[in-house]
Amino acid sequence: MYRSVKHLDTSLDKLAQEATRISDSYNPLGSKIILGEGSVKDSIRKRPRKKMITQKLNLALIEVAKNKGDTKMEKRYRNTWYCQSHITTHNGKAYGNYCKNRFCLVCLGIRKADMINRYYPIIEKWKQPHFLTLTVKAQPNQNLQKWMDGMKKALTKILKRCQKRFERNRGPKLIGVYSLECNFNPIRKTYNPHFHILTANKEIANRIKEEWLQIWTPKYALPYLQKIRKVKDTGKDLVETIKYGAKIFIDPTMKKKKGMKSKTPHKIYAAGLHEIYKAMDNKRLFGSFGFRLPKEEPKVKKEKIVFDFQEWNYVPEIADYVNNETGQLMTSFIPDQSLETILNEIDTSSS
Ligand SMILES: [Zn+2]
Repeated sequence: MYRSVKHLDTSLDKLAQEATRISDSYNPLGSKIILGEGSVKDSIRKRPRKKMITQKLNLALIEVAKNKGDTKMEKRYRNTWYCQSHITTHNGKAYGNYCKNRFCLVCLGIRKADMINRYYPIIEKWKQPHFLTLTVKAQPNQNLQKWMDGMKKALTKILKRCQKRFERNRGPKLIGVYSLECNFNPIRKTYNPHFHILTANKEIANRIKEEWLQIWTPKYALPYLQKIRKVKDTGKDLVETIKYGAKIFIDPTMKKKKGMKSKTPHKIYAAGLHEIYKAMDNKRLFGSFGFRLPKEEPKVKKEKIVFDFQEWNYVPEIADYVNNETGQLMTSFIPDQSLETILNEIDTSSS
């Protein structure tokens, strides 16, 4: 697997062991029913940071939705604010309820890891994978939903058309994975919906690009903005493809130099993100074509009664989980100053 698990936090291991012992002696008759597989230590270690960003972001999103009178989204942001606020650990794994929303970094991380595990074994076998970006012209917020629908329809049409051609021996078989994403431009106050597509070879990428330009014409999609490049690191580009959703931290100057990180402190634009999440609501943004994943056993959430368990609550003020019984902190996470500044200065006005 591309992911390194070498640097697992050993202190978390120790903590889990100690905590288990403490729990056993304090609460010998207590029991709890836990559900599912649970999250592993590496994911738990990263959780306080994700939880902190998610709570601050969703607090701002709640404010935006409230001001716009959008009670449906407000409710969902609120639900995410509470996601994983309370967790139970058992044998070094964490259990709890997940909100499964796109604006939850905790749930997003779990979903990404799951998708990488499923898709990577297939994609790593592709001989000449290529990375294709398809865009349309930037749009104001009121057009966003319509354009995202239109882009999805266009891609479906291209895939169907090419499949027919392939069946008549007049073109390649299209094989790839795609995801529809959108970024906000805080200077122009526009939105850039785009597809990231990982294809099995260059010919497929070229074919899709040609068809895309034919559908939209230069009036809506400029040819030089539809980019194809060779994949050097399949794992990295798969992650890039399934980033899933919207960029949260944005350079307010929008000056992106190739391969260089901008030195300007990044910002979060909650009102812009709200427009994107609203437009993406109830849409499937990720898909594959030309291949099938091996059949998986349907996931049945197994119920288990445990006696040695720990209960933890997330405390926003210290950005960590605190053990209900012992008061122990779960990790040694301390947010850096720059992250705290970004989270305390979320912009809720521009969209
Ligand atoms: Zn969640």
